[in-house]
Amino acid sequence: ADIYGPSRKNPLGRDYSLVEVRGRAAKAVALAAGERETAGAIVEGRLVPAQAEPVTSPADRSRVIGYAATADAADIDRAVAVARKAQPAWDRLGGGGRAMVLRAMGDALEAEMDALIALLSLEAGKTLNDGVAEVREAIDFCRYYADLAERQFGAPTPLPGPVGETNQLQLAGRGVFACISPWNFPLAIFTGQIAAALAAGNAVLAKPAEQTPLIAARAVRLFHKAGLEPALLALLSGEGATVGGVIVNHPGIDGVAFTGGTETAWAINRRLAARNGPIIPFIAETGGLNGMFVDTTALKEQVVDDVILSAFGSAGQRCSALRLLFVPHDSADELVATLKGAMDALVIGDPADPSTDVGPVIDAEAKAALVAHRERLSREATILHECVTPEGGDFFAPLMAEIPAADFLEREVFGPILHVVRYDPADLSKVAGRLAARGYGLTLGIHSRIERFAEEVRELVPAGNVYVNRSIIGAVVGVQPFGGEGLSGTGPKAGGPHALLRYATERALSVNI
Ligand code: NAD
Repeated sequence: ADIYGPSRKNPLGRDYSLVEVRGRAAKAVALAAGERETAGAIVEGRLVPAQAEPVTSPADRSRVIGYAATADAADIDRAVAVARKAQPAWDRLGGGGRAMVLRAMGDALEAEMDALIALLSLEAGKTLNDGVAEVREAIDFCRYYADLAERQFGAPTPLPGPVGETNQLQLAGRGVFACISPWNFPLAIFTGQIAAALAAGNAVLAKPAEQTPLIAARAVRLFHKAGLEPALLALLSGEGATVGGVIVNHPGIDGVAFTGGTETAWAINRRLAARNGPIIPFIAETGGLNGMFVDTTALKEQVVDDVILSAFGSAGQRCSALRLLFVPHDSADELVATLKGAMDALVIGDPADPSTDVGPVIDAEAKAALVAHRERLSREATILHECVTPEGGDFFAPLMAEIPAADFLEREVFGPILHVVRYDPADLSKVAGRLAARGYGLTLGIHSRIERFAEEVRELVPAGNVYVNRSIIGAVVGVQPFGGEGLSGTGPKAGGPHALLRYATERALSVNI
């Protein structure tokens, strides 16, 4: 209870086995599709009029679900200027006042849950259950960071000193934060970054992924409706290299929070390093090459459930998703056979249908990368099993392949492809070492009834989030603070007690009387 503070309430989920809940979901999807949300640059709470392009659904590219324009350099300049002007008062308001706005945002998200799930399904191809989890996570971020703001950004911390001298330490906002987010959690990560930066006393320029501008626009409008002064949060939609690049180069920003690919983080880091001026913080949460190690004592049924969910849930488009399954020679044939059966039971198709397990991938480019990887697997490895790809839309069906060792993969493959590596238990340290040598460190799974085995794997493969005898996805705010190390990110962990500290500056004050 102490981590959450007294105010945190878990938002309710949705039970799609109930006819009336399914009916409400179908209505919400029809409504969201008809609404045709418009995104672009939202500065001081107003959408800047500009030439907008249609946004279509990954499940059906003939379906126009809204329109989005691109922010230009003048929009960015204006957003920076008004944010800089509004930020000092927001900082002075203190953690308690800011917490009230963030809690109002949590409540606003909860009140709109069905509409948001519908938009997530239409724009990002999320299944309804993935949508529920995502909206709940966004709400959790608002409430959790509200609690942290109240506690960490209240009265200054008194420090010891000689008689006659008072010493204290105070946290303050840094100024204007650029928050750059990915399409795979277009609401939860988008909202989480903004909520953290705001909680710490900053104003925000939010740059959503170009694939998901509509859900971002909806979230920004909700922040404003919840009582946030519009100048404190601008939406700047558009491509990463252009709009993102201008924001990152802008002399008026005081920090960057980024979640996305490792290569993009390198590019942003290089740009920030080339600036002459204040040295600003860069928070980067990036990709993973996540493994799960199974030994012969593991419970096969549980392994199968957890592998299917971790590798193929959300069409494998989670940074935490399982990419490499390490199975001992003795149990490999049986496990692979059971996994094939479980893959055949997956329903792949329309994400808005409550019975769907796996929806489309985000776009044609993502699909093309997966198709190219499949071709490499069929040439250089062994394809063990694949599901049937539905017609239309950007679908790529779950696939399982056997590869000789972890270093067959150089980098993250972002989609529903599971790579199986058979190993001899006597070679565990060598086999695991080849995974660790890739340099990522996001999630790690272990399935075993032997504690020593779990400890050994943890020592061999450093990772930010380790899961024993369960799936490796679905970190809960405040319960599994999330984030990686090495090529997977800088920290601090999202949804953890230290999350706000890098968004803030520390000021020590010594007074002699
Ligand atoms: P991406 O790196 O392509 O894009 C992320 C964001 O960066 C987008 O808003 C994009 O427009 C922007 N961008 C791209 N180039 C830029 C540049 N030069 N300057 C400034 N901004 C730029 O990633 P993506 O495809 O949107 O998302 C998938 C990736 O995100 C995967 O690698 C996944 O593992 C990672 N991810 C990590 C976490 C985590 O917490 N570690 C969570 C979710 C996703």
